[in-house]
Amino acid sequence: MKNLIVLSIVFSMLTAGSAAAARPDRNKAAAWSWQESAREEAIACARDIWEHPEIGEQEFYSSKRLADFLESHGFTLQHGVAGLPTAWVATFSNGEGPILGYLAEFDALPGLSQEAGSPVRKPLKESQPGHGCGHDLLGTGSAFAALGVKEAMLLNKIPGTVKVFGCPAEETLVGKVYMARAGVFGGVDVMLGWHPGSENAVTFASSLAMTSIKFRFHGKTAHAAGDPQDGRSALDAVELMDAGVNFMREHIIDEARVHYVITSGGGAPNVVPDRAEVWYYVRARRTEEQKPILEWVRQIAGAAAVMTRTTGEEELLSTCREVLLNDPLAQLLQENLQQVGPPVFDAQDWEFARKLSENFAKPDSVPLDTTITKLEIVPPDKWRWESGSTDDGDVSWIVPYGRITTACSAKGGTGHSWQVVTCAGSAVGFKGMLAASKVLAGAGIDLLTQPKLRQAAREDYIKKLEGKTYECGVPDSLPPPSLRKPAGAAK
Ligand SMILES: [Zn+2]
Repeated sequence: MKNLIVLSIVFSMLTAGSAAAARPDRNKAAAWSWQESAREEAIACARDIWEHPEIGEQEFYSSKRLADFLESHGFTLQHGVAGLPTAWVATFSNGEGPILGYLAEFDALPGLSQEAGSPVRKPLKESQPGHGCGHDLLGTGSAFAALGVKEAMLLNKIPGTVKVFGCPAEETLVGKVYMARAGVFGGVDVMLGWHPGSENAVTFASSLAMTSIKFRFHGKTAHAAGDPQDGRSALDAVELMDAGVNFMREHIIDEARVHYVITSGGGAPNVVPDRAEVWYYVRARRTEEQKPILEWVRQIAGAAAVMTRTTGEEELLSTCREVLLNDPLAQLLQENLQQVGPPVFDAQDWEFARKLSENFAKPDSVPLDTTITKLEIVPPDKWRWESGSTDDGDVSWIVPYGRITTACSAKGGTGHSWQVVTCAGSAVGFKGMLAASKVLAGAGIDLLTQPKLRQAAREDYIKKLEGKTYECGVPDSLPPPSLRKPAGAAK
């Protein structure tokens, strides 16, 4: 009952805010008309990043391109934050006031090179990376939202600060985790973000807490036929570990996900491998549920080393938390999504999307979303969970965080695919991105100008923490993966 009362207070505060927000005010009008006038500049930035796909921690071109875009419009850049060469923070300040943040990403995925706007598979450069998660749009869209807010702040003298966080290596869940560890997100009052998708909606779903970890075993080489008794196989250890984990599965919660690849397992059958490596992702809904499963996996690794008389070591790459959902921010984003409306696609976009969806296992007869999904806010025990993970999770434990998705690709397809790459470099993707930018700018302006909204977001964030505090799962002593010595360099 007490909870009900608290909730109703939060919602009455929101309703008060939304009455003013029902009509786009002059601040939003300023942001949106500037965005309209500069849309070609934003599209050129996204296209440029799309044309230079780089994988996580290697995004030197893309990271600089996006940072330059912001710098050319008056933001101050701090490069190389958290010891990550491609991470940055861009800041615009208009005097003392609240601090609003936007999350930007720019990494691509390996092997997904694909021509833009082609409804059939056509790699641009065989086996090269491609923007299969649309982060060219994500980064540019967030930056463009911040630029729109900046224009309104200048025009209408709105005090406060806007920060854009250039977060590398989302696909390996590295960037935001190491930035969080370094305290980069501290001091921000509220954070907004988005992800390109195939529908227009507030993302009111959490994601799985996850650890990315490698296990390496060291044995002894020997002639596999001549002197097998002198050898100790590191590959045996990997295989026994995997077998152990597969037996473990029966006894863990249904919602957990554990998967692995063998990244090194020897070179020839007639040489007992003295080195083998397996890379695991261990996921579950909540960090508290995920940690004991990870611990079990670690124990199985140790037991596999004992059984095979090898030695083992682990290398923690990253570990991220589930996303804490924020009810007032979700509500505010929904209102702004409704004010902006879904992206408007032309006949050419529809033709492209129809042809593209013919490649999907389940083609949708209406392949582009021109509706807005209804928002249903539910308490934490009824949250929906995405099947994947995101390092946005760690950010949501530090600052109240809200996010949306807009239609940037055809419905019915799968993520991390060439079908996303082709959309993320074409008109469909750009139109979705521009819609997202406007929604994020509108919500940002509401948050800068209405203290009640920020307060409601903060109160809800504190409630969702349930008395816990954020602790980064990566120890302070561990450098980001790309800055470590090559595996096996140190024994
Ligand atoms: Zn992504």
